[in-house]
Amino acid sequence: MLNRRAFLKTGLTTGAAIPLTSTLNALAPASLLAGEVGAAIPGRSAVKLATLPARLPAIDLATEPWQQRIRRVAQSNMTEHDPAVMNVEEWADYWHSAQADIVFVSVTGILAFYPSKVKFHRHGKFLNGRDFFGECVAAAKKRGMRVVARMSPDLNWGDALEAHPEWFMRNRDGSPQTDADEPLLFKTCMFSSYMDDYVPAIMREVSALYDVDCFYTNGWPQIGALPDCHCAICSKLPAPSTVAYWHAYDDRVFELWQKYDAIAKEKKPDSFFFANLGGNVRGGPNLNRLGKIAAWFQADNQGRTNGDPAIWGCSLQGRVCNAIMDGKFATNVTAAYSTGGVVWRNASKSPEEARMWMCETSASGMVPYYHFVGSEAGLGEDRRWQKTGADYFRWTARHDAHLRTRRSIANIGVVFGQSTQLLYPGPGPAAARTRDTMHETTQGLYDALLQGRFAFDFVHEDRLDPERLGKYRALLLPNIAMLSDRQCRQIRDYVQSGGSIMASFETGLYDENLKQRSEFGLADLLGISKAGNVIGTVGNAYYARIERQHPILDGFANTNWIPGAQNRIPLKPVQSPVLTVVPGFVRYPPELAYPPVSHTDEPAVVLRESGPSRMAYFPGDIERTYWITGHGDLLRLLGNTIRWITHDEIIVDVQGEGLVEMFAWETAPGYAIHLLNYTNPNAHHGWMQSTYPLGPQTVRMKLPAGVKVKSVELLQAGHSVPFGLESELHFTIPRVEDYEVAAISVA
Ligand SMILES: [Zn+2]
Repeated sequence: MLNRRAFLKTGLTTGAAIPLTSTLNALAPASLLAGEVGAAIPGRSAVKLATLPARLPAIDLATEPWQQRIRRVAQSNMTEHDPAVMNVEEWADYWHSAQADIVFVSVTGILAFYPSKVKFHRHGKFLNGRDFFGECVAAAKKRGMRVVARMSPDLNWGDALEAHPEWFMRNRDGSPQTDADEPLLFKTCMFSSYMDDYVPAIMREVSALYDVDCFYTNGWPQIGALPDCHCAICSKLPAPSTVAYWHAYDDRVFELWQKYDAIAKEKKPDSFFFANLGGNVRGGPNLNRLGKIAAWFQADNQGRTNGDPAIWGCSLQGRVCNAIMDGKFATNVTAAYSTGGVVWRNASKSPEEARMWMCETSASGMVPYYHFVGSEAGLGEDRRWQKTGADYFRWTARHDAHLRTRRSIANIGVVFGQSTQLLYPGPGPAAARTRDTMHETTQGLYDALLQGRFAFDFVHEDRLDPERLGKYRALLLPNIAMLSDRQCRQIRDYVQSGGSIMASFETGLYDENLKQRSEFGLADLLGISKAGNVIGTVGNAYYARIERQHPILDGFANTNWIPGAQNRIPLKPVQSPVLTVVPGFVRYPPELAYPPVSHTDEPAVVLRESGPSRMAYFPGDIERTYWITGHGDLLRLLGNTIRWITHDEIIVDVQGEGLVEMFAWETAPGYAIHLLNYTNPNAHHGWMQSTYPLGPQTVRMKLPAGVKVKSVELLQAGHSVPFGLESELHFTIPRVEDYEVAAISVA
């Protein structure tokens, strides 16, 4: 382990070492201070339980905005045919019996579900003058359910195109962009007056005619990637996929969002506008900015896709929402229908898969929203989805108090660099770049955090202020390539106040405008200096030679080297390195598969330590390489390093077998520890078809002084468990099916 002297020496290789003093106790909240050393646990060195922070003051739910009390959200997504076949009373009865608090009802904008007089708001073929929307609103209201007026401003028909060619998105050749499935529908441009004139006209018409609670747009804004339009207006904007374009897009989203919100409030001051969001760490609009104005974050993240096949796709989205909403209302929609590489929008998916997605929604602090499309033959030709949703909703209704979160108690922050996720093209020459780079990086670290059972939050790159970072023992920077000078300064301040960091690869090598720096933005802090450009892999990837023992190498025996990563940035030598690079060499033919250069002084990791702060930097893209290879050495290295930089201080210790995602929340009644059981052959592919229960899981946590535990209740198992409360709270969850919530009530 590096001592203070070694740290100072290391600092000299790249310039003056920054003075780091032990100010943790002075600046950090009590949550960062380690409690007593816990019992040694097999497979894991002795961990120290950090004490939870003092509990938040009580809130009066009755005084909160109405949407904060919504716990179940429902949608039968209406088709053009539904006015001919859907039984409105049956529809309302189903959702009411499932204890839904609010239902989405389609106004639309593509097809009117009421006798709209707005020009180009085409009436559906089966509407026949009927006020289908009004009947649905009345049926919902009669049963005490609130109503979201759902619009779709993203598409319109040929008659609108002919009258208003300026409303529509264009290809490079000037032709209008059509819907992927229906060539008679054309994509509208969000920069055009369609959004300023047509959409408000519908909103005002609906407000005048009906009692709706809020307005929502499906299909806008675009999420996960930025629009690519070549209409007359967009041609004057910065080029698509550039930082400047993102800012223009963002400004327009905000302008429209606020305009629509004001229209929603014209009739009822407690009404609001919200839009389709999601796109997890990529988002679309700047999520920091949006989080400040959104009353409801609706994540359109309905199920696993081929491009994103890991089971935790919903809870990852929940961590994004938690990072930007500060406890405000967030939902994630679960498709009851078949999502994936081939879609059947009117056939149910497996109950195990749909249920897990809803469990992840609750576990990650969002509110479940269940969704099926179309109502052929009553409530659908395929009605298998109904029981899954109703059963889950009814279960949540029995436990609303415990499932509603106040704040995460995690003590590790993972920076999610939204601009890097959206705009950074990946390393190396343009031809070798792939947009998957950041997705793979995020997934690799996420997997490692789950396997290590770390309690962690996401932290948006624009929210690195000391008030927010103070709760974290460590901050992880997985190839956060784009960092502004200000963000670099905030990270330095965080370390100087006693925090630890782990960073990798191109972190801080670009500024917020994607302009490459000559040196890493955090070079001084990390004690690193760039010695060249990215080196990729041809044949054998590089290795990391073990130079000396260190806690980050715990568990590696009988080997002189471990795998490096696919790509790395060469660094100048440092004093007393722990791992050095053995450059890649020939893979085939095997005759040549040996290292011509078997020893260098190029660091494969740089570690620094000062007082309570520890810093680790990997010059390789190791999180990503772990994700694409699954190599256990990289997993071990990541886990060990996170433990080392956090001094193995954890906030909740959950021990037991299985791949589990854990969330730990402070709640109004006490605390809630959520365990999602991903131990399943379908964790990384396809749908869960059955459940593989886990045996005992022991839980330990150190409550704030004076907090007494009244009970620990398992919300799925439906019974209480005994607990001990000596220096710490400890109890055992005997068995976990797919999901368990240990609800701790305190006095
Ligand atoms: Zn355009």
